[in-house]
Amino acid sequence: MGDVVEMLGAGLAPGVVVTDPEVMAAYARDMASFSAVGDPLAVVMPRTVEDVQHVMRTATAARVPVVPQGARTGLSGGANAVDGCIVLSLAKMDRILEIDPVDRIAVVEPGVVNAVLSRAVAERGLYYPPDPSSWEQCTIGGNIGTGAGGLCCVKYGVTAEYVLGLDVVLADGRLLSTGRRTAKGVAGYDLTRLFVGSEGTLGVVVKAVVALRPAPPQQLALVAEFPSASAACAAICTIMERGHVPSLLELMDGTTIRAVNAMAQMGLPESTEALLLAAFDTPDPAADLAALGELCTAAGATEVVPAQDAAESEMLLQARRLSLTALERVSTATMIDDVCVPRGRLGEMLDGVAAIAAEYDLTIGVCAHAGDGNTHPVVCFDAHDPDESRRARESFDAIMALGLELGGTITGEHGVGLLKKDWLARELGPTALELQRGVKAVFDPLGLLNPGKVF
Ligand SMILES: Cc1cc2nc3c(=O)[nH]c(=O)nc-3n(C[C@H](O)[C@H](O)[C@H](O)COP(=O)(O)OP(=O)(O)OC[C@H]3O[C@@H](n4cnc5c(N)ncnc54)[C@H](O)[C@@H]3O)c2cc1C
Repeated sequence: MGDVVEMLGAGLAPGVVVTDPEVMAAYARDMASFSAVGDPLAVVMPRTVEDVQHVMRTATAARVPVVPQGARTGLSGGANAVDGCIVLSLAKMDRILEIDPVDRIAVVEPGVVNAVLSRAVAERGLYYPPDPSSWEQCTIGGNIGTGAGGLCCVKYGVTAEYVLGLDVVLADGRLLSTGRRTAKGVAGYDLTRLFVGSEGTLGVVVKAVVALRPAPPQQLALVAEFPSASAACAAICTIMERGHVPSLLELMDGTTIRAVNAMAQMGLPESTEALLLAAFDTPDPAADLAALGELCTAAGATEVVPAQDAAESEMLLQARRLSLTALERVSTATMIDDVCVPRGRLGEMLDGVAAIAAEYDLTIGVCAHAGDGNTHPVVCFDAHDPDESRRARESFDAIMALGLELGGTITGEHGVGLLKKDWLARELGPTALELQRGVKAVFDPLGLLNPGKVF
C-alpha cells in the first residue's frame, strides 16, 4: 500500500495525493443509504488530464481499484469507496474551457458544478438544460456518470441528449476522444452515449463537449391542488395527451408538502393530497398557464394558483427542489427510490406506493418529475430501530417490483450503483446482462474501474 501511494506521489504535485484519515473518511461515500462503504488507500485530486493518466497507469501497474468521484451527491452508492481503492475526485478539474455561441456548445472539465455552467452560459444568452435538484453541488462529470435528469427534462430531455463528445482516460491510462463538436456526426459506434450513465465503470471523463440551446423566455409557474394523487396523475395524462409542452411538470404528495413546510415554513397548502407544479417558458406563458389551469380544474383540482412573476415562480420551484432534503428530516434515515413508469401508469404507481407504506407501516413521501413518469418515493425510517430498518429495505424492494410490474425501470436518473445491482439483473435479463458485462471487459479487462458497481 505504501508503495502505491509513493508511486502516485512520484508523478503528481504535492497535495494531490491525500492520505489523511479524516479526509479519506469524508470522501468515502456518496449520499445513498444502505450501501457498503470501503476504506480507500488514498484520495487523489488531479488538476490535469496527465495527472489522471498517471493515476490510471499506476493503478493498472499495481492492480489497484479506482473509484471516480464528482461531488458525491449520488444516491445509489456509485461513488462509494471500495476497500483498498484510489478515490479519484475530479472536483478540482473545474474549468469551463470554452463557450461557443456559434456552435452552441460548451467545453468543460468534469468538476464544473452544474449551476456554475448554467449561470456562465446564461450570461452569453445560452442555456444548458439538464438541471438536477442538486445542481448547486453536483458536477458535470457526475451528471455524465449517472445520466442525470432534472426538473426541465419533460421538455428538454436528460443529460444524454446534451453530451456531444468526451475525452476519457481509460483504465490503462490511454486517452480516448469520442464524439464530436459538430451539430451532426454519425462516424462509428456512439461511444459517447455509452459512457453516459456508465457510472465510472468504463473510463474517467476528463473533458466534455456539451450542447447548449438559446436561452428560452423566463418561465412562469402555477400550482394546482388535488384531493388525491391519482386525480393529479390523471390531469398529467390529459396535459400530455392534449399536446401541451410545459417546461416543468412536477408533483409533491401530502407527506412531502408537510415536510417542506416543516423545514422551510413555505406556507404550502397542507390539507391537499397532491400538488402539481407546472411551468411554461413559451412567448406567452400566462396564456399557456391559464389553459393548463382550466384543464386542472376540469380534472378535479380544488385550487389553481398561477405565479404572478418570475420571483413567485422561483419560490414554487424552490419548494420542489427542497423536497428530498425536507423528507430526510422526517426521521433519522431515508432511502430514496427512483422508479420511472410510463406516464399513463403514474396513478397506479402512486396508489401502489401508498399501499406499500400502509403495508410496511412506514412514512413514504413521494415527489416526482411527474411529466416524465419519474417518481422518487422516499422511505423515511429510524435507522436505530432494526425492525423499522428491515421494513424500510423491504418496502424499497416492493416499490421497485411495482415499477417493473407497471412496465417501468428501476432507475430513471440516479443510476444503479450498489443499491440496485440485484434489480438490474431482473430488469435486463440474462442476455442483456451478459453483453453489458462483455462491454465492461473490453474497456476495463482487469476490472479496476469502480469494481462491484452496477453489475
Ligand atoms: C438533494 C438531492 C437532489 C437530487 N436531485 C437529482 C435530480 O433531480 N436528478 C438527478 O438525476 N439526480 C439527482 N440527485 C442525485 C445526484 O445529484 C446526481 O446523481 C448527480 O448526477 C451526481 O453528481 P456528482 O457530481 O455528485 O457525482 P458523484 O455522486 O460523485 O458520482 C456519481 C457517479 O458518477 C461517477 N463519476 C463521477 N465523476 C466521474 C467522471 N469524471 N468520470 C467517470 N465517472 C464519474 C461516479 O463513479 C459515480 O458512479 C440528487 C441528489 C441530492 C442529494
